[in-house]
Amino acid sequence: MPVAPRISADPADPADPLVALADRCVQCGLCLPACPTYGRERLEAESPRGRIALTRAWALDTIAPSAIADTHLDHCLGCRSCEAVCPAGVEYGALLTLARRRQRERRPAAWRQRLIEALAARPRWLGAGLGLYRLAHPWLPAAWRPLPRPPRTVAMPLSPGSTGPASDRVGLFVGCVADRYESPLRAALARLCGALGVVLDPAALQTCCGALHAHSGDAAHAQALAAANRDAFAGHITVLTLASGCHDTLDRALADGARAVDAIVYLADRIERLRFRPSTQRVAVYLPCTQRNVVKSVPALRRLLAAVPGLQVIELDAGYGCCGASGTQMFADPQRAAEYRAPLIEQFERSGAERLLSANIGCRLHLGNGTDLRVQHPLEFLAECLEETTPAV
Ligand code: SF4
Ligand code: SF4
Repeated sequence: MPVAPRISADPADPADPLVALADRCVQCGLCLPACPTYGRERLEAESPRGRIALTRAWALDTIAPSAIADTHLDHCLGCRSCEAVCPAGVEYGALLTLARRRQRERRPAAWRQRLIEALAARPRWLGAGLGLYRLAHPWLPAAWRPLPRPPRTVAMPLSPGSTGPASDRVGLFVGCVADRYESPLRAALARLCGALGVVLDPAALQTCCGALHAHSGDAAHAQALAAANRDAFAGHITVLTLASGCHDTLDRALADGARAVDAIVYLADRIERLRFRPSTQRVAVYLPCTQRNVVKSVPALRRLLAAVPGLQVIELDAGYGCCGASGTQMFADPQRAAEYRAPLIEQFERSGAERLLSANIGCRLHLGNGTDLRVQHPLEFLAECLEETTPAV
Protein backbone atom coordinates (compact mmCIF):
# COMPACT_ATOMS: atom_id res chain seq x y z
CA MET A 1 0.00 0.00 0.00
CA PRO A 2 1.36 3.46 -0.89
CA VAL A 3 1.83 5.97 1.86
CA ALA A 4 0.23 9.37 2.40
CA PRO A 5 2.53 11.21 4.78
CA ARG A 6 2.02 14.44 6.67
CA ILE A 7 2.48 17.56 4.58
CA SER A 8 4.98 19.41 6.69
CA ALA A 9 5.43 22.60 4.72
CA ASP A 10 4.46 25.59 6.80
CA PRO A 11 0.94 26.64 5.71
CA ALA A 12 1.72 30.18 6.89
CA ASP A 13 4.53 30.36 4.37
CA PRO A 14 3.40 32.67 1.57
CA ALA A 15 5.09 30.34 -0.93
CA ASP A 16 3.04 27.56 -2.42
CA PRO A 17 3.72 24.54 -0.14
CA LEU A 18 4.06 22.27 -3.16
CA VAL A 19 6.68 24.55 -4.70
CA ALA A 20 8.45 24.75 -1.32
CA LEU A 21 8.59 20.94 -1.18
CA ALA A 22 9.77 20.71 -4.79
CA ASP A 23 12.43 23.37 -4.30
CA ARG A 24 14.31 21.15 -1.86
CA CYS A 25 15.22 18.90 -4.80
CA VAL A 26 18.73 19.65 -6.06
CA GLN A 27 18.17 17.41 -9.10
CA CYS A 28 21.13 15.18 -8.29
CA GLY A 29 19.39 12.08 -9.61
CA LEU A 30 20.54 9.82 -6.78
CA CYS A 31 16.97 8.65 -6.32
CA LEU A 32 16.62 7.37 -9.88
CA PRO A 33 18.18 3.91 -9.31
CA ALA A 34 15.82 3.36 -6.36
CA CYS A 35 12.67 4.19 -8.31
CA PRO A 36 10.71 1.17 -9.62
CA THR A 37 8.99 3.11 -12.41
CA TYR A 38 12.25 4.62 -13.62
CA GLY A 39 13.86 1.18 -13.48
CA ARG A 40 11.12 -0.17 -15.69
CA GLU A 41 10.73 2.68 -18.19
CA ARG A 42 14.13 4.44 -18.17
CA LEU A 43 12.33 7.73 -18.75
CA GLU A 44 13.01 10.96 -16.84
CA ALA A 45 9.26 11.63 -16.71
CA GLU A 46 8.85 8.29 -14.89
CA SER A 47 11.43 9.22 -12.25
CA PRO A 48 11.06 11.06 -8.91
CA ARG A 49 13.09 14.00 -10.26
CA GLY A 50 10.89 14.19 -13.34
CA ARG A 51 7.68 14.09 -11.31
CA ILE A 52 8.96 16.75 -8.92
CA ALA A 53 9.77 19.01 -11.86
CA LEU A 54 6.40 18.31 -13.44
CA THR A 55 4.31 19.06 -10.37
CA ARG A 56 6.37 22.19 -9.65
CA ALA A 57 5.72 23.43 -13.17
CA TRP A 58 2.01 22.76 -12.75
CA ALA A 59 1.99 24.67 -9.46
CA LEU A 60 3.78 27.64 -11.05
CA ASP A 61 1.53 27.45 -14.10
CA THR A 62 4.50 27.27 -16.44
CA ILE A 63 3.06 24.24 -18.21
CA ALA A 64 -0.56 23.23 -18.63
CA PRO A 65 -1.77 19.85 -17.40
CA SER A 66 -2.08 17.21 -20.09
CA ALA A 67 -3.29 13.64 -20.26
CA ILE A 68 0.18 12.24 -20.88
CA ALA A 69 1.71 14.17 -17.98
CA ASP A 70 -1.13 13.03 -15.72
CA THR A 71 -0.25 9.47 -16.66
CA HIS A 72 3.32 9.90 -15.43
CA LEU A 73 2.01 11.00 -12.04
CA ASP A 74 -0.57 8.20 -12.05
CA HIS A 75 2.19 5.65 -12.58
CA CYS A 76 3.97 6.68 -9.37
CA LEU A 77 3.63 3.76 -6.96
CA GLY A 78 3.89 5.94 -3.87
CA CYS A 79 6.55 3.57 -2.55
CA ARG A 80 8.76 6.41 -1.21
CA SER A 81 11.94 4.54 -2.09
CA CYS A 82 13.13 7.85 -3.55
CA GLU A 83 12.56 9.62 -0.25
CA ALA A 84 14.50 6.96 1.64
CA VAL A 85 17.66 7.59 -0.40
CA CYS A 86 17.40 11.34 -1.05
CA PRO A 87 20.42 13.18 0.43
CA ALA A 88 18.58 16.51 0.29
CA GLY A 89 15.69 15.38 2.48
CA VAL A 90 13.02 15.88 -0.15
CA GLU A 91 9.65 14.85 1.33
CA TYR A 92 8.49 13.19 -1.84
CA GLY A 93 5.53 11.46 -0.21
CA ALA A 94 4.15 14.77 1.04
CA LEU A 95 4.66 16.32 -2.36
CA LEU A 96 2.87 13.43 -4.07
CA THR A 97 -0.11 13.68 -1.73
CA LEU A 98 -0.45 17.39 -2.37
CA ALA A 99 0.02 17.02 -6.13
CA ARG A 100 -2.62 14.31 -6.35
CA ARG A 101 -5.04 16.40 -4.30
CA ARG A 102 -4.72 19.20 -6.84
CA GLN A 103 -4.88 16.78 -9.73
CA ARG A 104 -8.17 15.43 -8.41
CA GLU A 105 -9.65 18.92 -8.13
CA ARG A 106 -9.32 19.35 -11.89
CA ARG A 107 -9.71 15.71 -12.97
CA PRO A 108 -12.41 13.64 -11.17
CA ALA A 109 -11.46 10.15 -10.10
CA ALA A 110 -12.53 7.22 -12.28
CA TRP A 111 -15.68 5.35 -11.24
CA ARG A 112 -13.66 2.29 -10.23
CA GLN A 113 -11.51 4.35 -7.90
CA ARG A 114 -14.56 6.02 -6.35
CA LEU A 115 -16.25 2.64 -5.85
CA ILE A 116 -13.19 1.23 -4.09
CA GLU A 117 -12.93 4.31 -1.87
CA ALA A 118 -16.64 4.14 -1.00
CA LEU A 119 -16.40 0.46 -0.03
CA ALA A 120 -13.19 0.93 1.95
CA ALA A 121 -14.86 3.69 3.97
CA ARG A 122 -17.73 1.31 4.83
CA PRO A 123 -16.06 -1.82 6.20
CA ARG A 124 -19.40 -3.53 6.97
CA TRP A 125 -20.59 -3.23 3.38
CA LEU A 126 -17.20 -4.32 2.19
CA GLY A 127 -17.22 -7.31 4.54
CA ALA A 128 -20.69 -8.36 3.35
CA GLY A 129 -19.61 -8.01 -0.28
CA LEU A 130 -16.48 -10.07 0.33
CA GLY A 131 -18.59 -12.72 2.05
CA LEU A 132 -20.63 -13.08 -1.18
CA TYR A 133 -17.42 -12.97 -3.21
CA ARG A 134 -16.08 -15.91 -1.20
CA LEU A 135 -19.19 -17.96 -2.06
CA ALA A 136 -19.09 -17.05 -5.76
CA HIS A 137 -15.30 -17.21 -6.22
CA PRO A 138 -14.98 -20.85 -7.38
CA TRP A 139 -17.45 -20.23 -10.25
CA LEU A 140 -16.17 -16.84 -11.41
CA PRO A 141 -14.06 -16.52 -14.56
CA ALA A 142 -10.46 -15.41 -13.89
CA ALA A 143 -11.17 -11.91 -15.19
CA TRP A 144 -13.77 -11.43 -12.46
CA ARG A 145 -11.44 -12.39 -9.64
CA PRO A 146 -9.61 -9.19 -8.73
CA LEU A 147 -8.75 -10.61 -5.32
CA PRO A 148 -7.98 -14.04 -3.87
CA ARG A 149 -10.79 -15.99 -2.26
CA PRO A 150 -11.30 -14.66 1.28
CA PRO A 151 -10.52 -17.25 3.96
CA ARG A 152 -13.03 -18.65 6.39
CA THR A 153 -13.56 -16.29 9.29
CA VAL A 154 -11.61 -17.38 12.38
CA ALA A 155 -12.73 -16.09 15.77
CA MET A 156 -10.03 -14.16 17.58
CA PRO A 157 -9.49 -15.33 21.13
CA LEU A 158 -8.80 -12.28 23.26
CA SER A 159 -6.07 -13.64 25.46
CA PRO A 160 -5.28 -17.31 24.81
CA GLY A 161 -2.34 -18.53 26.83
CA SER A 162 -2.67 -15.78 29.37
CA THR A 163 -2.63 -17.44 32.75
CA GLY A 164 -3.46 -14.45 34.84
CA PRO A 165 -4.66 -10.90 34.62
CA ALA A 166 -3.48 -9.05 31.52
CA SER A 167 -0.16 -7.34 32.08
CA ASP A 168 -0.81 -5.10 29.14
CA ARG A 169 -3.79 -4.05 27.02
CA VAL A 170 -3.29 -2.76 23.54
CA GLY A 171 -5.57 -1.64 20.75
CA LEU A 172 -5.61 -3.58 17.50
CA PHE A 173 -6.20 -1.89 14.16
CA VAL A 174 -8.21 -4.13 11.84
CA GLY A 175 -8.64 -2.03 8.70
CA CYS A 176 -11.09 -2.32 5.81
CA VAL A 177 -10.37 -5.13 3.34
CA ALA A 178 -8.09 -6.72 5.95
CA ASP A 179 -11.08 -7.13 8.26
CA ARG A 180 -12.39 -9.94 6.02
CA TYR A 181 -9.03 -11.37 4.95
CA GLU A 182 -7.03 -11.25 8.17
CA SER A 183 -9.10 -13.06 10.76
CA PRO A 184 -6.59 -15.98 10.75
CA LEU A 185 -3.79 -13.44 11.18
CA ARG A 186 -5.54 -11.73 14.06
CA ALA A 187 -6.02 -15.11 15.74
CA ALA A 188 -2.29 -15.78 15.23
CA LEU A 189 -1.40 -12.42 16.77
CA ALA A 190 -3.70 -13.17 19.69
CA ARG A 191 -1.79 -16.41 20.30
CA LEU A 192 1.55 -14.62 20.22
CA CYS A 193 0.33 -11.80 22.44
CA GLY A 194 -1.45 -14.29 24.70
CA ALA A 195 1.93 -15.91 25.34
CA LEU A 196 3.03 -12.53 26.67
CA GLY A 197 -0.11 -12.01 28.73
CA VAL A 198 -1.18 -9.17 26.47
CA VAL A 199 -4.86 -8.60 25.68
CA LEU A 200 -5.85 -7.17 22.29
CA ASP A 201 -8.70 -4.73 21.93
CA PRO A 202 -10.02 -4.40 18.35
CA ALA A 203 -11.97 -1.20 19.03
CA ALA A 204 -15.49 -1.66 17.69
CA LEU A 205 -15.94 1.73 16.02
CA GLN A 206 -12.69 1.79 14.05
CA THR A 207 -12.74 2.11 10.28
CA CYS A 208 -10.47 2.24 7.22
CA CYS A 209 -7.23 4.16 7.85
CA GLY A 210 -7.89 6.41 4.82
CA ALA A 211 -4.45 5.93 3.22
CA LEU A 212 -6.11 4.78 0.02
CA HIS A 213 -8.18 7.99 -0.09
CA ALA A 214 -5.31 10.32 0.77
CA HIS A 215 -3.03 8.70 -1.77
CA SER A 216 -5.54 9.32 -4.55
CA GLY A 217 -6.14 12.94 -3.57
CA ASP A 218 -9.40 12.57 -1.61
CA ALA A 219 -8.31 14.61 1.40
CA ALA A 220 -11.82 15.21 2.79
CA HIS A 221 -12.68 11.53 3.22
CA ALA A 222 -9.17 10.73 4.45
CA GLN A 223 -9.58 13.31 7.22
CA ALA A 224 -13.06 12.05 8.16
CA LEU A 225 -11.76 8.49 8.50
CA ALA A 226 -8.81 9.69 10.57
CA ALA A 227 -11.19 11.47 12.95
CA ALA A 228 -13.31 8.32 13.32
CA ASN A 229 -10.24 6.25 14.20
CA ARG A 230 -9.01 8.87 16.65
CA ASP A 231 -12.32 8.58 18.51
CA ALA A 232 -12.44 4.78 18.24
CA PHE A 233 -9.02 4.40 19.87
CA ALA A 234 -9.44 7.13 22.48
CA GLY A 235 -7.90 5.95 25.74
CA HIS A 236 -5.37 3.63 24.08
CA ILE A 237 -1.67 4.38 24.39
CA THR A 238 -0.60 1.67 21.95
CA VAL A 239 -2.45 0.48 18.87
CA LEU A 240 -0.94 -2.49 17.04
CA THR A 241 -0.99 -2.55 13.25
CA LEU A 242 -0.69 -5.58 11.00
CA ALA A 243 -0.46 -3.80 7.64
CA SER A 244 2.58 -1.67 6.89
CA GLY A 245 0.51 0.24 4.33
CA CYS A 246 -1.96 1.46 6.98
CA HIS A 247 0.53 2.13 9.77
CA ASP A 248 1.66 5.68 9.04
CA THR A 249 -1.80 7.02 8.28
CA LEU A 250 -3.23 5.50 11.44
CA ASP A 251 -0.34 6.78 13.54
CA ARG A 252 -1.02 10.33 12.44
CA ALA A 253 -4.75 9.91 13.13
CA LEU A 254 -4.33 8.90 16.78
CA ALA A 255 -4.66 11.37 19.61
CA ASP A 256 -1.61 12.95 21.21
CA GLY A 257 0.11 10.48 23.52
CA ALA A 258 -1.09 7.45 21.54
CA ARG A 259 0.94 5.73 18.86
CA ALA A 260 0.63 3.00 16.28
CA VAL A 261 3.13 0.18 16.76
CA ASP A 262 3.82 -2.43 14.11
CA ALA A 263 2.91 -5.77 15.72
CA ILE A 264 6.22 -7.13 14.38
CA VAL A 265 8.15 -4.48 16.32
CA TYR A 266 5.99 -4.99 19.41
CA LEU A 267 6.78 -8.72 19.48
CA ALA A 268 10.44 -8.33 18.55
CA ASP A 269 10.86 -5.97 21.51
CA ARG A 270 9.64 -8.81 23.75
CA ILE A 271 11.41 -11.63 21.93
CA GLU A 272 13.15 -12.96 25.04
CA ARG A 273 9.71 -13.98 26.33
CA LEU A 274 8.79 -15.98 23.21
CA ARG A 275 9.98 -19.50 22.41
CA PHE A 276 9.73 -21.06 18.96
CA ARG A 277 10.02 -24.70 17.91
CA PRO A 278 12.77 -25.56 15.42
CA SER A 279 11.73 -25.65 11.77
CA THR A 280 13.50 -27.11 8.76
CA GLN A 281 11.34 -25.09 6.37
CA ARG A 282 12.55 -22.66 3.76
CA VAL A 283 10.41 -19.51 3.59
CA ALA A 284 10.59 -16.57 1.23
CA VAL A 285 9.97 -13.04 2.47
CA TYR A 286 8.83 -10.11 0.38
CA LEU A 287 9.50 -6.82 2.18
CA PRO A 288 6.81 -4.28 1.22
CA CYS A 289 7.87 -0.74 0.24
CA THR A 290 5.96 0.64 3.20
CA GLN A 291 7.70 -1.72 5.60
CA ARG A 292 11.13 -0.78 4.23
CA ASN A 293 10.69 2.95 3.69
CA VAL A 294 8.14 4.07 6.25
CA VAL A 295 7.53 1.66 9.14
CA LYS A 296 11.14 0.46 9.03
CA SER A 297 10.31 -2.81 10.78
CA VAL A 298 12.59 -4.98 8.62
CA PRO A 299 15.25 -5.45 11.37
CA ALA A 300 12.51 -6.47 13.84
CA LEU A 301 11.15 -9.02 11.36
CA ARG A 302 14.61 -10.47 10.79
CA ARG A 303 15.09 -10.80 14.57
CA LEU A 304 11.81 -12.68 14.96
CA LEU A 305 12.47 -15.08 12.08
CA ALA A 306 16.01 -15.69 13.35
CA ALA A 307 14.49 -16.87 16.64
CA VAL A 308 13.10 -19.98 14.88
CA PRO A 309 15.94 -22.52 15.08
CA GLY A 310 16.86 -24.04 11.72
CA LEU A 311 14.59 -21.84 9.62
CA GLN A 312 15.91 -20.86 6.18
CA VAL A 313 14.82 -17.40 5.07
CA ILE A 314 15.17 -16.04 1.54
CA GLU A 315 14.40 -12.36 0.97
CA LEU A 316 12.99 -11.78 -2.51
CA ASP A 317 14.68 -8.89 -4.29
CA ALA A 318 14.03 -9.53 -7.98
CA GLY A 319 12.36 -6.99 -10.21
CA TYR A 320 11.93 -3.29 -9.65
CA GLY A 321 11.64 -2.90 -5.87
CA CYS A 322 7.83 -2.94 -5.69
CA CYS A 323 5.34 -5.78 -6.21
CA GLY A 324 3.03 -3.42 -8.13
CA ALA A 325 -0.02 -3.62 -5.85
CA SER A 326 0.34 0.08 -5.03
CA GLY A 327 -3.02 0.79 -3.42
CA THR A 328 -5.56 0.55 -6.20
CA GLN A 329 -3.16 0.02 -9.12
CA MET A 330 -3.78 -3.72 -8.97
CA PHE A 331 -7.45 -3.01 -9.76
CA ALA A 332 -7.08 0.07 -11.96
CA ASP A 333 -4.24 -1.27 -14.10
CA PRO A 334 -3.93 -5.02 -13.47
CA GLN A 335 -1.67 -5.58 -16.47
CA ARG A 336 0.88 -3.07 -15.23
CA ALA A 337 0.60 -4.39 -11.67
CA ALA A 338 1.21 -7.94 -12.95
CA GLU A 339 4.38 -6.87 -14.76
CA TYR A 340 5.86 -5.59 -11.49
CA ARG A 341 4.86 -8.80 -9.75
CA ALA A 342 6.18 -11.29 -12.29
CA PRO A 343 9.92 -11.22 -11.39
CA LEU A 344 9.11 -11.78 -7.72
CA ILE A 345 6.91 -14.78 -8.49
CA GLU A 346 9.63 -16.22 -10.71
CA GLN A 347 12.23 -15.75 -7.98
CA PHE A 348 9.92 -17.37 -5.45
CA GLU A 349 9.36 -20.38 -7.68
CA ARG A 350 13.11 -20.81 -8.19
CA SER A 351 13.86 -20.45 -4.47
CA GLY A 352 12.39 -23.75 -3.33
CA ALA A 353 10.54 -21.94 -0.53
CA GLU A 354 7.33 -23.46 0.74
CA ARG A 355 5.52 -20.22 1.50
CA LEU A 356 5.77 -16.52 0.91
CA LEU A 357 5.62 -14.12 3.86
CA SER A 358 4.84 -10.43 3.58
CA ALA A 359 3.73 -7.83 6.11
CA ASN A 360 1.25 -5.81 4.04
CA ILE A 361 -2.26 -6.88 3.13
CA GLY A 362 -2.21 -5.19 -0.28
CA CYS A 363 1.02 -6.94 -1.27
CA ARG A 364 -0.26 -10.31 -0.10
CA LEU A 365 -3.53 -9.97 -1.98
CA HIS A 366 -1.65 -9.01 -5.14
CA LEU A 367 1.08 -11.65 -4.81
CA GLY A 368 -1.41 -14.40 -4.08
CA ASN A 369 -4.17 -13.58 -6.56
CA GLY A 370 -4.53 -16.08 -9.38
CA THR A 371 -1.66 -18.21 -8.06
CA ASP A 372 -1.55 -21.23 -5.80
CA LEU A 373 1.18 -19.73 -3.64
CA ARG A 374 0.83 -20.01 0.11
CA VAL A 375 1.04 -16.34 1.08
CA GLN A 376 0.91 -15.32 4.72
CA HIS A 377 1.80 -12.54 7.11
CA PRO A 378 5.06 -13.46 8.91
CA LEU A 379 3.24 -13.55 12.24
CA GLU A 380 0.95 -16.33 11.01
CA PHE A 381 4.00 -18.47 10.38
CA LEU A 382 5.58 -17.49 13.71
CA ALA A 383 2.39 -18.39 15.59
CA GLU A 384 2.58 -21.86 14.03
CA CYS A 385 6.09 -22.20 15.43
CA LEU A 386 5.22 -20.92 18.90
CA GLU A 387 6.17 -23.26 21.74
CA GLU A 388 3.11 -24.03 23.82
CA THR A 389 5.33 -23.78 26.88
CA THR A 390 6.30 -20.18 26.13
CA PRO A 391 6.21 -18.43 29.50
CA ALA A 392 3.52 -15.81 30.09
CA VAL A 393 5.84 -13.50 32.00
S1 SF4 B 1 17.74 12.35 -4.70
FE1 SF4 B 1 16.48 14.00 -3.81
S2 SF4 B 1 17.50 15.89 -4.46
FE2 SF4 B 1 18.33 14.26 -5.75
S3 SF4 B 1 16.98 14.28 -7.60
FE3 SF4 B 1 16.10 12.78 -6.19
S4 SF4 B 1 14.56 13.95 -5.00
FE4 SF4 B 1 15.93 15.47 -6.01
S1 SF4 C 1 7.38 7.04 -4.80
FE1 SF4 C 1 8.35 5.21 -5.71
S2 SF4 C 1 7.52 5.09 -7.82
FE2 SF4 C 1 7.07 7.17 -7.03
S3 SF4 C 1 8.78 8.44 -7.74
FE3 SF4 C 1 9.34 7.72 -5.66
S4 SF4 C 1 10.52 5.82 -5.99
FE4 SF4 C 1 9.44 6.29 -7.92
